[in-house]
Amino acid sequence: MTPASQQTDLIQRDRARLWHPYAPAAADLPLWEVEAAGGVRLRLRGEDGTRHEVIDAMCSWWSVIHGYRHPALDAAASGQLAKFSHVMFGGLTHAPAVELAERLVDMAPAAPGRPGLERVFLADSGSVAVEVALKLAVQFQTAAGRPRRQRFLSLRGGYHGDTFAAMGVCDPVDGMHSAFPGLLAGNVFAPRPPAASATPETVQAWASGVAELAAAHSGELAAIIVEPVLQGAGGMHAYPAECLAALRQVADRHGLLLIFDEIATGFGRTGELFAADHAGVVPDIMCVGKALTGGYLTLAAMLCTAEVAAAVSGGQAGALLHGPTFMGNPLACAVANASLGIIETGTWRIDVGRIGNSLASGLAPAMELGAVRDVRTIGAVGVIELHDAVDVTAVTAAAIRHGVWVRPFRNLVYTMPPYISTAADIAQITEGMTAAVAEVHEARLREAGGREAGGPELRGQRVPVRAGSAS
Ligand SMILES: *Cc1c(COP(=O)(O)O)cnc(C)c1O
Repeated sequence: MTPASQQTDLIQRDRARLWHPYAPAAADLPLWEVEAAGGVRLRLRGEDGTRHEVIDAMCSWWSVIHGYRHPALDAAASGQLAKFSHVMFGGLTHAPAVELAERLVDMAPAAPGRPGLERVFLADSGSVAVEVALKLAVQFQTAAGRPRRQRFLSLRGGYHGDTFAAMGVCDPVDGMHSAFPGLLAGNVFAPRPPAASATPETVQAWASGVAELAAAHSGELAAIIVEPVLQGAGGMHAYPAECLAALRQVADRHGLLLIFDEIATGFGRTGELFAADHAGVVPDIMCVGKALTGGYLTLAAMLCTAEVAAAVSGGQAGALLHGPTFMGNPLACAVANASLGIIETGTWRIDVGRIGNSLASGLAPAMELGAVRDVRTIGAVGVIELHDAVDVTAVTAAAIRHGVWVRPFRNLVYTMPPYISTAADIAQITEGMTAAVAEVHEARLREAGGREAGGPELRGQRVPVRAGSAS
């Protein structure tokens, strides 16, 4: 097969053989081929052969924070490639893993009088890091003589991954519980925390509800697991940092471990290095992933306190019961070290602040659109929330015409741009998002004769949490 003919039918060949995320097989969904990537930009080739240069407003699912083909990350990858790409982690170790663990421990949230996160488990993806965190919590309770504590308290609207235990702590309605009823039952769900703008009274009322729920189930609960400050794939919902202090209190009162899933929020995205830092709250266990390698390779980590690590290691099992084949992959660790090296310079804080301001002013005009219910930003995250479900196919195509790659889900068109995005890049993103919503959804509103005040809620839509599947 010549390269030219390969090009012609690459998308057809994909359709014949591959699955895509949350998509049916052999779907007739739009697909674009990525021909090249550099900085904040992707070069896409559509099915009809047209080429589009777009800004990646998604950061490849929130991971490529320093942009594509970053010289320092490229150099770290080739440097390690010239040494060795992989070795098993059972009985062996290597500099990239040790260095990475030390960096993560140095960066992790800390507070006076509270034990820090000192022990690191390297996992291959975010979901696996969550699995390991949940296992660790159960093993901790068993080691502490409380073997009945095998359930978790989680929040409505949460998202923690796609493997079984992780799915089990995702929102039970918007998550995938209905597809696996026999496998995911058993956890306890507190209401979604109030919006970031909530009054102290509202926060207090929410916290009392959680405290009651925890008290009612304390004999069965091993841990509380939450995405601190920003629920991502479950709806891009930002909530007050005070909620985290309340969860810390509840956990301490009932002997539960507190797990912060910082897979989406870690490494500066919300304006602090970790979202936990907005509250000065230190969890017992923390998961990181997504941006850890700057989006180059799949890698995640679970951090825990020395106390938890010691208890589990001294328990009957005598070990944390997990050990993936590609644990501590040297290539991924080397790139993660380069990515964290950039984070350590601290420029992310200026960039995230600058991008956040530009997103807020750039997206504000979208509020004028009749199809738009809310516009919000937190850190370098910008969200346009519609009244109705987004026409993902039409909005994606419209945004591409404006030079922007977005992957909307449910009723949300959002961006998490790379930290290297310039003011002009952010302007293009916010204009492209707003124009795409206006072109697709305002036109529909006009056809439908305008919107009555309010508008239907998006209730009961069984759209997978991280969907963006254009079905
Ligand atoms: C993406 C995400 C996960 C899952 O990570 P994967 O690498 O996709 O397995 C878990 N928790 C949160 C908060 C996430 O955003």
